[in-house]
Amino acid sequence: MSTLGFEVTNGIAVLRLDNPPVNSLGLEMRRAIVEAVARAEVDPAVGAVVLIGSGKGFSGGADIREFGTPKSYAEPHLLTVLRTIEECTKPVIAAIDGICMGGALEMALACHYRVVASGARLALPEVKLGLLPGAGGTQRLPRVVGVETALNMIVSGATVSPDKLRATQLIDVYSEGDLLKSALDFARTVIAERRPLKRVRDITIRLPNTEAYLQFARNSVKAAAGPYPAPLACVEAVAAAVLQPFDAGMKRERELFAALMASEESAALRHIFQAERAATHIKDVPESVRPRAITRVGVIGAGTMGGGIAMTFINAGLPVVLLETTQDALDRGLANIRRNYQGALRKGSLTEASLEQRLALIMPTLSYEPLQDVDLVVEAVFENIDVKKKVFEKLDAVLKQGAILASNTSALNLDAIALFTKRPADVIGLHFFSPANVMRLLEVVRGAKTASDVLATAMALAKKLGKIAVVSGVCDGFIGNRMVARYGMAAHDLLLAGALPQQIDTALQNFGMVMGPFRMADLAGLDIGWAVRKRHAAEFPSRDFSNVADVLCEAGRFGQKTGAGFYRYETGARNAIPDPEVTAIIEKFRERRGITPRKVTDSEIVERCIYALINEGARIVEEGVAQRSSDVDLVYLNGYGFPAYRGGPMFYADRVGLSSVARALRRIAALAGADAAFWTPAPLLVRLVQEGKTFSEFKGSSQ
Ligand code: NAD
Repeated sequence: MSTLGFEVTNGIAVLRLDNPPVNSLGLEMRRAIVEAVARAEVDPAVGAVVLIGSGKGFSGGADIREFGTPKSYAEPHLLTVLRTIEECTKPVIAAIDGICMGGALEMALACHYRVVASGARLALPEVKLGLLPGAGGTQRLPRVVGVETALNMIVSGATVSPDKLRATQLIDVYSEGDLLKSALDFARTVIAERRPLKRVRDITIRLPNTEAYLQFARNSVKAAAGPYPAPLACVEAVAAAVLQPFDAGMKRERELFAALMASEESAALRHIFQAERAATHIKDVPESVRPRAITRVGVIGAGTMGGGIAMTFINAGLPVVLLETTQDALDRGLANIRRNYQGALRKGSLTEASLEQRLALIMPTLSYEPLQDVDLVVEAVFENIDVKKKVFEKLDAVLKQGAILASNTSALNLDAIALFTKRPADVIGLHFFSPANVMRLLEVVRGAKTASDVLATAMALAKKLGKIAVVSGVCDGFIGNRMVARYGMAAHDLLLAGALPQQIDTALQNFGMVMGPFRMADLAGLDIGWAVRKRHAAEFPSRDFSNVADVLCEAGRFGQKTGAGFYRYETGARNAIPDPEVTAIIEKFRERRGITPRKVTDSEIVERCIYALINEGARIVEEGVAQRSSDVDLVYLNGYGFPAYRGGPMFYADRVGLSSVARALRRIAALAGADAAFWTPAPLLVRLVQEGKTFSEFKGSSQ
């Protein structure tokens, strides 16, 4: 199969990129372009060359699957391709439609002319992977669109529509009709008029107040970039384009690119990019399994979660039947939904008309009848198995055959819920995170009997809803809550050992977590865990489930919602204020347990809490609850505020080195009073250390 078409008509060679899905510039394609340009150059019948795409447009740029492999460095390198095009003695014209991203835009900038369709989408998105455009993008783009526009595009990675760049030298012809025809017409004109070859590298950049402008750009980009080095490196590369001759600027761009390629931050961002793609594949559900059609849905319960889930559906244009038990509860739920949208209205991200349009998609009801023709229902009623039983029995009686019955349960056994119906194959868990209309994570919980096409439907639906879906097996807490429970236990141990909530939270926030565990607990509400521990204590009377949070709850401190928890909160404010009363409660708790407090260091806090996560993550992967370690990373990144520049807990462990992680866990397990079962390295971790492998290299257990 050829990746590049070559056809000569009326003296013009048309080179058509044809490498689905996005005509990426992998090694084969690069070879083909170099050969085709060389062939056109020596062919006396050819007067000009048109480079055009197919399918989704021009090209999506580099083949990310080649990143880090010898193929990405193999000749012809992208720079060689660009040089071949630029040095061609016959005019080379890029004809651009659809996507034209990264290396593809850099290639277009090396062409002598560009004919751009009005529907093209132009971007240099490398910064999103912690990189910069490394094939001359930072040197050529400012030459054609000006320094400010180029910097905005390169530093943000945003996609720009050609009508915004019409007046610039990026676009020689703005085409609103047939792109190929426009390009061929233009090529004929260029040949007929014997126009000189226009090389972007020869354009001189003019920037008034150069130094002051560049300093301003450095300052503002640095302030916004946080821990990421790429945005500032982008500015430096563009500065080189302004201050140095073209070849010296290219050299500087290369150096900066190489440094970013070797950075931890870029490695993490590239890992996440690939993890998101991997998560869409379910190992034993082939792509050929067709998802069921979902055009109308139901939501049971209009509380915190039900309301957010209903918003998620209507935001995607899906009509929702929303069921509650009482008119009061229904009115309250609808009022909350309206209030949430009004926030967006005030910010200007939603118009009054589209607000009303969305709300009109909700059909509120107190009866099950309107659910008869929905394709999928998400249950979000109280977390109580008896209530869920009643709801699922009723749904089973009412829903049409083929409809999907989903539960948003956080901790109840999905397989038990499925057995409340006569169609367990149609039952699945859709575990949304709060607030459901905002959080991107969706755990798709696969029951023992869930059918393959039900799973495929959930994944397709998640995509439509703009969610990142991760498949989880059934276990206590699924992937995320099972891990966060271990993290919370590690943090609680440190509290007892001698640290205070504010020290623990600050240490973990300095590591990069969006919120420390105690602030997070206050936000979620301490009463939820309190109820669970009371239930566990009744079930296992010989075990100690007591927790400082119990004493706080007994004092009416349920977290932010009561203005006090591990911290205190001023009325209407969310900033956590350390509270001496809490310190006194913790001290008393330690005394009762006979603990003499010691000094706990910040690095010990980070090590214990993060390694507790990693150890539980390893168990989850080994058991097959998660399909792959990168799925665990996605859960923690998108649901629990793990810093993206560290790539997720499992990727972080790979970078630290699994043998170091295992050694530290053994050291903690051996300490007096430590819960050895909790801290002993998970068998998978031990095995990978023995085999000298990483989590990323582990392709899943046979389960
Ligand atoms: P909630 O108390 O805010 O809302 C529950 C709603 O269900 C209430 O409005 C109630 O009137 C309604 N309801 C109760 N019984 C019903 C019935 N038989 N039929 C119809 N409606 C009924 O609770 P929530 O926080 O929205 O939690 C709902 C579910 O989502 C639970 O299973 C919970 O574990 C799960 N969950 C909650 C969160 C969270 O952060 N709150 C996150 C993920 C999952």
